[in-house]
Amino acid sequence: MRIVLLGAPGAGKGTQAAKISERYGIPHISTGDILREAVKQGTELGRSAQAYMSRGELVPDEVVIGIVAERFRRTDCAKGFLLDGFPRTVAQAKALDKALAESNCALDAVISLEVDEAEVVRRLSSRRVCGTCGAIVSSTGDAQKCASCGGELITRSDDQPEAIRRRLQVYREQTEPLVEYYSESGVLRRVSAVGTVDEVFDRISQALNH
Ligand code: AMP
Repeated sequence: MRIVLLGAPGAGKGTQAAKISERYGIPHISTGDILREAVKQGTELGRSAQAYMSRGELVPDEVVIGIVAERFRRTDCAKGFLLDGFPRTVAQAKALDKALAESNCALDAVISLEVDEAEVVRRLSSRRVCGTCGAIVSSTGDAQKCASCGGELITRSDDQPEAIRRRLQVYREQTEPLVEYYSESGVLRRVSAVGTVDEVFDRISQALNH
């Protein structure tokens, strides 16, 4: 299975990606997670990406395309992959098409998680992540520790109101055109991302079985 997960920030890509990856036994490749890890480690990549990320801007295409190309070289991608947060621009989508064509393979599905903007603002404003294991939780309760590993729950620096607004604008301008791009190649599956995590996951599983 080679799958791309598309959707606005806060649509639930990270949460659903973890479940899809487990169900289908394919690696979950999140460019956002790779970049955040680089920032945490203070690598050269992390230092150059940090400023873009905290403003809610996209990291330049060539940087992200390079990250994905390197990740694809790992042997676990032989059985497929789930891309979460990549591609985010038409240039990235074309680079992905080229890389796949060079290995004589193609995407099986592009899942577009669809949710309205008021809901994503609400979700992003209440999102907390575990600083240790990366689990994503909503802060409706007053938990301060991660239920799975006991790590500290933190707010992502790009989940502040100004960065949220900018990320949504960047999504509309640069990423949303990919819905059209993939609908032309016949792999697009539109899935409503409204409802509980399990309801959305059931819809995704149905869409993948078609
Ligand atoms: P995410 O965790 O997918 O929401 O990504 C967090 C941030 O990482 C984004 O707002 C961008 O700054 C950066 N980022 C992640 N994936 C990409 C990508 N494919 N292209 C450019 N920037 C990215």
